[in-house]
Amino acid sequence: MSEKRLKRAATEPLEANYIPSLQQAPRQVLWIGCSDSDSKDSTVLNLLDDELLVLRNIGGMIIDGDLSCETTIKHAVVDLQVKHIVVCGHYGCRIVKAASREGLQGPWLSKLSALHSAHEEDINQLPALERDRSFVELNILDQLRSLRKFPEVTDAIRLGRLHIHGLVYDSETDKAYRLSEGQQNH
Ligand SMILES: [Zn+2]
Repeated sequence: MSEKRLKRAATEPLEANYIPSLQQAPRQVLWIGCSDSDSKDSTVLNLLDDELLVLRNIGGMIIDGDLSCETTIKHAVVDLQVKHIVVCGHYGCRIVKAASREGLQGPWLSKLSALHSAHEEDINQLPALERDRSFVELNILDQLRSLRKFPEVTDAIRLGRLHIHGLVYDSETDKAYRLSEGQQNH
């Protein structure tokens, strides 16, 4: 029975100076986050504002055909040659809820619903309090997979000049955690 239990995505506390500051203006990080995170999440890197290019939408999601998202990612990787892309979700996200995603429309709803369906059995085996947190983590990992579908991103990673990271922010403790992609086979 225990074999069926979902392994929560592995999280590690974010190290200090995880991405060292350059202490100067060139934008080295594209930050993709959620619109309702109160924008405190991006402070966990302790970088200058000028070092971050920030893209936010509901759920911090990378949706096929979202021109704003696609243009920002390509601009960051090709023109600005950022060194890092961070996808950061946040625990308590009202948009990314395991049980309901009411009020969402179109492709955002479709993508979250498909992800939830794929993991529903595992999620439902978790204690109730962990379900939303787990789904927030799964959503971040799903966005990392979407990010890797951009040829510009995969080329830059292959050349060793771009690194992508999944983080989750806990506003109650003002701490962030790194997510490991290795734990998920989906
Ligand atoms: Zn949110």
